[in-house]
Amino acid sequence: MTDLKSRYANALMNTFGPPKLVLTRGEGAHVWDDTGKQYLDLLGGIAVNSLGHAHPALVDAVTTQLQTLGHVSNFFATEPQVVLAERLLDLLGAQGKVFFTNSGTEANEAAFKLTRRTGRTHVVATEGAFHGRTMGALALTSKVAYREPFEPLPGGVTFVPYGDAAALADAVTDETAAVILEPLQGEAGVLAPPLHYLEQAREITREHGALLWLDEIQTGIGRTGAWFAHQNPAVAAPIDGLADVVTVAKGLAGGFPIGALIATGATADLLQPGNHGTTFGGNPVASAAALAVLDTIEKEGLLDQVTSLGHHVRERLGADDRVTEVRGAGLLIGLDLSEAVSAEVTAAALEAGFIINNPTPERIRLAPPLVLTQEQADSFLAAWPGILDAGYGEAP
Ligand SMILES: *Cc1c(COP(=O)(O)O)cnc(C)c1O
Repeated sequence: MTDLKSRYANALMNTFGPPKLVLTRGEGAHVWDDTGKQYLDLLGGIAVNSLGHAHPALVDAVTTQLQTLGHVSNFFATEPQVVLAERLLDLLGAQGKVFFTNSGTEANEAAFKLTRRTGRTHVVATEGAFHGRTMGALALTSKVAYREPFEPLPGGVTFVPYGDAAALADAVTDETAAVILEPLQGEAGVLAPPLHYLEQAREITREHGALLWLDEIQTGIGRTGAWFAHQNPAVAAPIDGLADVVTVAKGLAGGFPIGALIATGATADLLQPGNHGTTFGGNPVASAAALAVLDTIEKEGLLDQVTSLGHHVRERLGADDRVTEVRGAGLLIGLDLSEAVSAEVTAAALEAGFIINNPTPERIRLAPPLVLTQEQADSFLAAWPGILDAGYGEAP
């Protein structure tokens, strides 16, 4: 097993850089590497492992469904898929319809195609946004380093500064098909817009007959302490009415690949037979996994737990002078360091047995399992000053 890193380098494309660890096992919020060392997983597969690792409810749902009916084509209906679509619409409080995919970028890709069915082709997106890596989703992603090697991308996209409602109002016209926004920009390091931004975006889009499309791929499904971040009063003032399109993925099935495009009202009928398709999307096993996640979040009261634990963690993280700002809601947490040492801090954390993430040179992101306990969080908070010492190259 020890030579797995070199075998990885030989057999896998070098898209992610060298892997930091070889992981062999997980349970709850912990994972273990091939030397038997234990880590507290405060990244959760990048906001994916909502129930942690090997949660019995998830294992049981996947096993039972696989033993019953593992896959059928989308020529046929299965109960888990239908129930999951109904549940998502319920949680959103919407009349509408769902299209299932296998990933976040595919959910956005489907939504992008849906926006074209308005008869308009102009889309407004924001600077710092991340919407995925396929050609359509990439066209909506602002980061030049991601885009440039693959141009030309689908056109007609205008980027505006995130959180600036006046700039949004200037960019949206009667030719605009949609505005795509994240309630919090996760990949940018959990950036928050002003509290009334989404509400203003709803007004601006309505005025011009454009769709409001919220990318909740990272922020949705309990991550911020509400089912959807845009419904979380700590993230956004309530919008008047509903978003037209909401995309989700990451945490939805707790590690099983799935994504969903949820469209509300008349928008739900824009994609018609033949307009779009998928072989795996809405697969009964993935759908059963997602239902187990939603049930468990409800049964274990995780939304409240995530909210209060998030407050506690943010307050304690920010107590150190080397942390200049702490942001986020629930268990999606971003912080700024006083120096560009986030890679060193992340490495020091790993050494100390904690998996965290450095989305930019001075930002740290945490997106732990929603089942993280206070004791587990406190073990990290106790180690945090020492991790900063090591990351800053200071003697403890
Ligand atoms: C991760 C992410 C995506 C892309 O999801 P994939 O499953 O990696 O394709 C899109 N939008 C947001 C906001 C994300 O965080």
